[in-house]
Amino acid sequence: MQRSYFDHNATTPVDPEVLGAMVPWFSEKFGNASSIHSFGQQARAAVEQAREQVARLLGARPAEIVFTSGGTESDNLAILGLVRASRAERKHIITTAIEHSAVLNPCQALERSGVEVTYLPVGPEGVVDPGDVRRSLRPDTLLISVMMANNELGTIQPIEEIGRIAAEADVWFHTDAVQAAGKLPIDVGRLGVDLLSLSGHKIYAPKGVGVLYVRSGARIEPLVWGGHHERDRRPGTENAPGIIGLGKAAELAQAKLPAESARLAALRDRFERSVLERVPAARINGAGAARVANTANIAFSYVEGEALVIALDLKGVACSTGAACSSGAIEPSHVLTAIGLESAEARSSLRFSFGRGNTVEEVDRALGILPGVVDHLRELSPLYKKPIAIS
Ligand code: PLP
Repeated sequence: MQRSYFDHNATTPVDPEVLGAMVPWFSEKFGNASSIHSFGQQARAAVEQAREQVARLLGARPAEIVFTSGGTESDNLAILGLVRASRAERKHIITTAIEHSAVLNPCQALERSGVEVTYLPVGPEGVVDPGDVRRSLRPDTLLISVMMANNELGTIQPIEEIGRIAAEADVWFHTDAVQAAGKLPIDVGRLGVDLLSLSGHKIYAPKGVGVLYVRSGARIEPLVWGGHHERDRRPGTENAPGIIGLGKAAELAQAKLPAESARLAALRDRFERSVLERVPAARINGAGAARVANTANIAFSYVEGEALVIALDLKGVACSTGAACSSGAIEPSHVLTAIGLESAEARSSLRFSFGRGNTVEEVDRALGILPGVVDHLRELSPLYKKPIAIS
């Protein structure tokens, strides 16, 4: 059976060029980048080249790039690291209700130790109002953390505007750009961000490697203690193969972005248009907002989302019910409830996230399967009344 993967916001396959760049660093080029002999120096040079590649993607300086184990660690390092390195009297953080758990959970952990956190609501299209950010500022606000693109809806947040507000108020600004990298151009100077998180496995690099951009002058305390790696910001022997892969992936993401985002927007729009035509009572969540090109989040009322994911998977169509890390959770998505969806509507919503490997033929095949599967599951629902065909 042909299988199509429409879950690129959960993870992406490693690009063959990325894999090719990584392979020698597992075996013949195995040196520790901190060793002073030639084996070590060879690894050091490759790690520093990757740092330059990532810096170029972000418009940053190489010295501002800290390699981590992924997006979750980068978010934690930004938030906990900044709070721990800052004066105790600045104890207020502003974030949003639609952040990933890698931001929400460190914020909640900080609340337990006396830090106050404002969780801003978003509008019905899943976008935060920069006016709300401004109005929430306090004399003791230390940090604003707002994601660049939402992982479930794809909605793009007004980062540049919030960057200006943060700069005027002299407050640090972090953005989780895990779902924006490779999908939107990123320039940390133009955006006015001080801290920015990336994850390798969302941009065709392997899992377990990520980046925190730290503007020079921003002080963060490490989360774990050890040696002096990564300029004392993240100890531990560098994951040279992963870092080298991420460097290559950053270079490819930058080169492919314009053509690939136009191609994915066309695929996604074709998919959404046809779903609305062929499936009664389907609705696109976040449709009124600017969105990254690859993401479609669709409510199929009267259907249990997880049942639909499983039924589609059995027919070779892989998608998800929202954040991968919450699959199996009983609660409806916090993002979908934040945009005002009732619990049943949120539970009926699926995310299709397209990527480099996807073709028009695959999308059309999925479109041939989806309406029948939705119809079948709806027939099982006591609440659904089939529209009467008028001839
Ligand atoms: N932030 C966002 C917006 C994400 O979508 C994800 C992953 O789904 C993460 C952070 C966590 O990244 P990682 O899987 O690299 O820890």
